[in-house]
Amino acid sequence: MTTNRRHFIGGAGALAVAGTFAAPAIAQGKPRVVVIGGGPGGATVAKYVARDSGGAIDVTLVEPLKEFVTCFHSNLYLGDFRPYDSIKHGYSGLAKYGVTLAHDSAAAIDPAAKTVRLAGGTTLPYDRLVVAPGIDIKFDSVPGYSEQASEIMPHAWKPGPQTQLLKKQLDALSDGATIVMIAPPNPYRCPPGPYERVSMMAHVLKKKGHKNSKIIVLDPKPNFSKQALFVEGWQKHYPEMVEWQDPKMHGGIKGVDPSTMTVKTDLADYKAQLVNVIPAQMAGKIARDAGLTNESGFCPIKPESMQSAKDSNIYVIGDASIAGDMPKSAFSANSQAKVAAMAIRGELTKSPTFPARYTNTCWSLIETDDTVKVGGRYEPKEGKIAAVETFVSKTGENDDLRKQTQAENMGWYQGIIADIFA
Ligand SMILES: Cc1cc2nc3c(=O)[nH]c(=O)nc-3n(C[C@H](O)[C@H](O)[C@H](O)COP(=O)(O)OP(=O)(O)OC[C@H]3O[C@@H](n4cnc5c(N)ncnc54)[C@H](O)[C@@H]3O)c2cc1C
Repeated sequence: MTTNRRHFIGGAGALAVAGTFAAPAIAQGKPRVVVIGGGPGGATVAKYVARDSGGAIDVTLVEPLKEFVTCFHSNLYLGDFRPYDSIKHGYSGLAKYGVTLAHDSAAAIDPAAKTVRLAGGTTLPYDRLVVAPGIDIKFDSVPGYSEQASEIMPHAWKPGPQTQLLKKQLDALSDGATIVMIAPPNPYRCPPGPYERVSMMAHVLKKKGHKNSKIIVLDPKPNFSKQALFVEGWQKHYPEMVEWQDPKMHGGIKGVDPSTMTVKTDLADYKAQLVNVIPAQMAGKIARDAGLTNESGFCPIKPESMQSAKDSNIYVIGDASIAGDMPKSAFSANSQAKVAAMAIRGELTKSPTFPARYTNTCWSLIETDDTVKVGGRYEPKEGKIAAVETFVSKTGENDDLRKQTQAENMGWYQGIIADIFA
């Protein structure tokens, strides 16, 4: 992409991250972009703004973690299809584009002053702010569940220690075990994710020779993403092992008791050896505190640019945003980041921009070399991001096609990681 570079006298280069910057940003030289959150949304936007502006914009990425563990492909780690270290990534690759890393948490946004205060005390001024904090878990959406309870009944819907805890619990099960998963209500991150996770748990149990273990999925939804494909795969590879219940079957999820490892529904109590609770979700706290959310708990955006509907100096991308027909996925976050980066570069350097175009594909591994996918292309239409073309794998596909789809899945991971972090 060609950009018109603006040259500023006395540009400060990389922004120092200690101390307070009280002077107006423009007066100091280059326009400033601050990005909160270094996931697939935030890290991508930081890289693309810095790279495509050719150094004409100062970009600071605020992210407390030194190493980012991806949720995407964490199910493959659970199923022993990839080692934990392979889903961990550092930020050192972003330095070559001129991105400054502030390893801290954003504590507060002052939209009037256009500043972000970091937990460590530093204040960063911005001309444009990108908010990409991902999701927070609504622990109280499941009675009896809490952050403390997640140490016994992991959600593993944020990456890192929770994913490792779930893996440890799965590997410790003996034949005859009962696993209960409470699936989340819409909207949530990665619509097919819970069902890929069920497949990976079943794969591990099958590999270990379990004949009598069961996985019971209690779903608050009447249906789910790629349902026919998952159900077909479970019957083919894990007959009798997976039992999915919709609200009509369980009558309502009443709560959990971590002290007895029990899950209560309207119709039955389940005592389990492993309980995976995936509660309802909302935009990350910093977005909620800044007033960027609406009653849904997520952030409305303008579909042409990912600009916040509430503040034109702020962009919200990734899982925290309301992205119309796009699912909450790493692929979507990365795609939205490129649209936002282009819009920001255009605004701050008066360089050319193009109409917003978005894409997404979500692959799900059901069993070795048996992978399915769903996806689409999206454009701004009638005030939202609307699907203009969609595709989904078909039931009964041949083994070669499913194997090829898994090769695509692995290639996509390598490609998106390079696009985000390298
Ligand atoms: C089990 C599972 C499987 C999945 N599989 C896939 C898949 O196969 N394909 C796919 O595309 N997607 C998948 N996803 C979804 C994907 O992981 C998310 O959609 C994606 O990570 C969202 O990116 P994000 O940048 O919006 O948020 P995140 O990845 O959550 O990143 C947000 C970052 O912001 C940081 N942050 C939060 N608050 C602050 C603050 N106040 N200050 C500074 N930093 C802050 C956090 O530390 C974090 O690093 C999966 C998810 C799960 C749970």
